[in-house]
Amino acid sequence: MPEATLNNSSTATDNVVDKHFRRLKSNSVALRSEGYKSRKRRLTKLRDWVMNNRPAIKEALFKDFKKPPEEVDLSEVYVVIQELNHAITHLKKWMKPKKVSTPLSLLGTNGAIHYEPKGICLIIAPWNFPFNLTVGPLVSALAAGNTVMIKPSELSPATSDLIHRMVEECFGDDDIVQVMLGDKETSTALLERPFDHIFFTGSPQVGKIIMEAASRHLSSITLELGGKSPLIVDEKANLRDTAEKLVWGKFSNAGQTCIAPDYVLCHEKIQNALLEEIRSAILRLFDPDGKGIQKSAAYARIINERHFDRLNDMLNEALDDGALLVSGGQTHREDCYISPTVLTGVDPDGKLSNEEIFGPILPVLSFNTVDDVITYINSKPKPLAMYLFCGGKENRQAIEKNTSAGGICVNETLVHFMHPNLPFGGANHSGIGKSHGHFGFLSLSNEKAVLKQRVGHTSVKLLYPPYTPRVKKMINLLLRYF
Ligand code: NAD
Repeated sequence: MPEATLNNSSTATDNVVDKHFRRLKSNSVALRSEGYKSRKRRLTKLRDWVMNNRPAIKEALFKDFKKPPEEVDLSEVYVVIQELNHAITHLKKWMKPKKVSTPLSLLGTNGAIHYEPKGICLIIAPWNFPFNLTVGPLVSALAAGNTVMIKPSELSPATSDLIHRMVEECFGDDDIVQVMLGDKETSTALLERPFDHIFFTGSPQVGKIIMEAASRHLSSITLELGGKSPLIVDEKANLRDTAEKLVWGKFSNAGQTCIAPDYVLCHEKIQNALLEEIRSAILRLFDPDGKGIQKSAAYARIINERHFDRLNDMLNEALDDGALLVSGGQTHREDCYISPTVLTGVDPDGKLSNEEIFGPILPVLSFNTVDDVITYINSKPKPLAMYLFCGGKENRQAIEKNTSAGGICVNETLVHFMHPNLPFGGANHSGIGKSHGHFGFLSLSNEKAVLKQRVGHTSVKLLYPPYTPRVKKMINLLLRYF
């Protein structure tokens, strides 16, 4: 039976973790021999639950940070349903062993890749898309035939409770999925166990702790991390279209999106025109009737006062250091509200320029040549996402080829996350490993190499000792011709 604990006693937490771990571990062995139909049944059950519980999901997200219900439908429910439908449709093909061609040197053998479950997986999730970023990895883990322990975020308690209920209602006593509610103490207790795979979504700082813990058991890992994702606008871009997509990508979820554009690099010639377009796009999207953005049902809140203070301090530090407010800047601590805020002239050594912002504050910097852009991006850790709004292909291709990022979106923001046939993930500081669709299935499977000798006598025997002149000749032939 899935069971939650908020018990502060580390012994009590340890005991619950132990109990769940043992049961999931032993069941993971039973799951190895299971066929496609059982996995499909599980995924279908999960899909039905999500579809039937849309109102509850919206209610939980509203309780956690007033996330607008339509945004929940798009960024929490739709993406999860899409992931489930995609997995259900393709699972049979994904699970099928894949034959590979045989090199001449191994003539007489067959080779195939078998996709076996990793075993028991741990999913540690963040609060910013608390449903999507917990259930998305769960889909891949179940499609790959694993048992799963989930640790949702303590900062989005209503959604975490709902996930706990979902697991109870979908999997009951089956020892397939368990949920452990709790904070970093619970994570720490979980990380002491030898999970076969750890799927972590969160900050790069905690990502390093996870990687260190995984190294103690040599658990494999997927780290979906964050960082500073740039959005680049050249002098030939369509500014109205760019501004609208930028404002949507940056300010939905109140900027608390791992792939939100963190800052803008725009050509100096079009900076003023772009700022004007950004200002009016903010009003069009979030204040169409002029009642004020704080009253808008389309604008979320900062998750808690600690994060509000962090963002407010960053903003005040930047203004003290000479940044200019182009738009926004209104804050209301009791309501955890920060209006969509745009700044220019931000100090390159300040926090806004060097830490992931993860909130509705957007610094706009300018450049003169595309080489400046490439040098700037390459001087920073590799971003999770990069957004290119370029009028022609020259600048776009130069940036694409000379920089590195987890993913690139051209003339769009955020939507690459929704593409089931593209891998999602970062590069080094912004993440390790890929998720979504087939890539998620592969990350949570062991690609087992299976070689079968078909004819009994193998050419490899010709190379066995003793190393007579004839064997030496065969080795030389092998090196030269095969
Ligand atoms: P976080 O790293 O603070 O927490 C994530 C999870 O780790 C939570 O469940 C938390 O309880 C746990 N945790 C916290 N401290 C821990 C510790 N010391 N040891 C073990 N576990 C610990 O991240 P967050 O604030 O929940 O989310 C924001 C961060 O996540 C941002 O950096 C954002 O960019 C990133 N993020 C990345 C993606 C992605 O897909 N790449 C998606 C969403 C968020």
